[in-house]
Amino acid sequence: MTDTTTSPATPTPPTRTPLTLLGAGAMGTALARAWLAAGHPVTVWNRTPARAEALGAEGATVAASAAEAVAAHRLVVACLLDDDSVGEALADADLTGRDLVNVTTGTPEDGRARAAWAKARGARFLDGGIMAVPPMIGVPDSGGYVFYSGSAALFEEHRETLAVPAGTSYVGDDPGFAALHDVALLGALDGLFSGLLHAFALVRREDIAPKEFAPLLVDWVNAMTPAAHQMAEQLESGDYGKGVVSNLAMLVSGNRIMLRAAEEQGVSPELITPLMWLSARRLADGHGDEDITGVVELLVRRG
Ligand code: NDP
Repeated sequence: MTDTTTSPATPTPPTRTPLTLLGAGAMGTALARAWLAAGHPVTVWNRTPARAEALGAEGATVAASAAEAVAAHRLVVACLLDDDSVGEALADADLTGRDLVNVTTGTPEDGRARAAWAKARGARFLDGGIMAVPPMIGVPDSGGYVFYSGSAALFEEHRETLAVPAGTSYVGDDPGFAALHDVALLGALDGLFSGLLHAFALVRREDIAPKEFAPLLVDWVNAMTPAAHQMAEQLESGDYGKGVVSNLAMLVSGNRIMLRAAEEQGVSPELITPLMWLSARRLADGHGDEDITGVVELLVRRG
């Protein structure tokens, strides 16, 4: 009698794209953990080997050199300190046929130059700008995401894998655009933080608890930031007088009050004066009836 019984088929786990990660700093480690948790085989390399040990214990393969790590998988993600460190780390690696995704923070020109550099070495290239801090990585509702630009084909092919640690936003085939979006948003944050710090300084010496003051700041800033849409409308039409609610002449006059209040509270105005100077210049140029958006004209250098 023939035995017709068969053992139940063991379900094959879905295959996840294996990848190499260069850099086990705070961000690199967070990225690697997210990919490992999602079942992606990860080969990691870090200049200082001790820093990659924890990831090794968590299931990553630790490579002895960047060249060895690059040889391990087609998809190579670099998350190093700056663009120079990417060049140094990859100096001896064979990038032929590799898909290099560089999420190291850099400038738009860094992104473009690195793309040409990667192409000359036979690799496809995607640049990335991470809009998240490490605790937001691998947390689906954290709001963190990464701007990508460069090879659209590479992005499409690895979209699912790239979406594991954080959301993705592809901003075009110009490899400089991810960095451009990244630094533009970071620049906006600088301005926002300047404003928050100035406000806290103004109330610092008074009997006003920072913890009670903070929600007022948050609500105010949230209520005001949609002004960016009005700015965009004016920039696109070139008409800075369109739909003006708070004209420049009034704002510049109000700046005198802001400066006197800072003086009275014993607070340096240094965080708020740059925009005041620019607004005063724009007013002196005859744009008092317009919105503050026209200050952009003073910032952009015409080449
Ligand atoms: P860390 O300082 O924690 O890590 C830096 C990494 O770069 C380490 O792996 C370090 O290696 C490596 N490195 C530095 N110089 C070189 C070099 N010359 N050659 C090879 N490797 C080098 O930084 P993060 O991990 O936090 O940041 C990594 C990238 O992520 C940066 O571009 C950062 O701007 C970006 N980013 C970080 C965010 C954050 O909040 N942390 C937020 C958004 C973006 P070693 O251990 O040997 O020093």
